[in-house]
Amino acid sequence: MRKLSSKFNCEVQKVVKEDNVFTVESSCGTYKSYHVIVSIGRMGKPNKPSYKIPPSLRSPVGYNLDKCGNGENVLVVGGGDSAIEYACDLSDTNEVTLTYRRNDLTRPNPTNQEMIYQYVEDDRVTLKLGVDIEDVESVEGQIQVNYADGTHEVYDRIVYAIGGTTPKDFLKACGFTLDELGEPIFDENYESEVKGLYLAGDIAFASGGSIAIALNHGYRIVSHILGK
Ligand SMILES: Cc1cc2nc3c(=O)[nH]c(=O)nc-3n(C[C@H](O)[C@H](O)[C@H](O)COP(=O)(O)OP(=O)(O)OC[C@H]3O[C@@H](n4cnc5c(N)ncnc54)[C@H](O)[C@@H]3O)c2cc1C
Repeated sequence: MRKLSSKFNCEVQKVVKEDNVFTVESSCGTYKSYHVIVSIGRMGKPNKPSYKIPPSLRSPVGYNLDKCGNGENVLVVGGGDSAIEYACDLSDTNEVTLTYRRNDLTRPNPTNQEMIYQYVEDDRVTLKLGVDIEDVESVEGQIQVNYADGTHEVYDRIVYAIGGTTPKDFLKACGFTLDELGEPIFDENYESEVKGLYLAGDIAFASGGSIAIALNHGYRIVSHILGK
């Protein structure tokens, strides 16, 4: 039986194929392999708003829950599953507003849609829908959010949950060809134009993501490698 080994806290920098063998260059050394499956997700490069975040607000503005604490007045920006889960989680110990530029929350899965409307009904989360944010500014140590409808509100913290970006430079460094939209090209087996180099999980989606679909990618790829 073959041995399976893992390496944690290890960042891959690039993958090079030479003489039918891949060399994976990483922060903890180089590895040789006949097949490589890249499944690095998209959250390493979260989408940022189009307006500039003033440098003084870098600390109270984030793209996940890492810096969040308790007892704050938090604005969560976004209309997907992540935004809803962040808002509901934070509302246990914070005052939370969820804002989304569209009028309806139709993108999240049914469970999350039901959850957010229940939280709103229970006064645990405030919704501000159908309005864009024009910009944010620092006012007396807090964040003033200026909405496009002319209103403004002040918060202690903002969490943006507006998706992630394709890490184009990384993918190019691994040998993937990108299409005209900058998305990686792969076939029905998730194999790239380089034989033996595959893509799985969120990185193989144009937007959104799902654990079940990511697992299916893995199954499909391994079946293809095994010739099944
Ligand atoms: C808040 C939230 C809630 C969600 N809820 C659900 C849900 O209820 N149901 C559902 O199906 N899906 C849910 N999802 C989506 C789900 O998490 C993703 O679809 C799934 O995790 C995709 O897996 P992945 O392996 O593609 O990427 P990820 O899970 O993002 O994993 C990528 C990994 O690669 C690592 N990595 C990145 N770059 C490198 C590098 N250069 N070298 C080495 N490692 C690297 C990252 O650190 C990370 O550990 C949710 C996502 C979020 C953010």
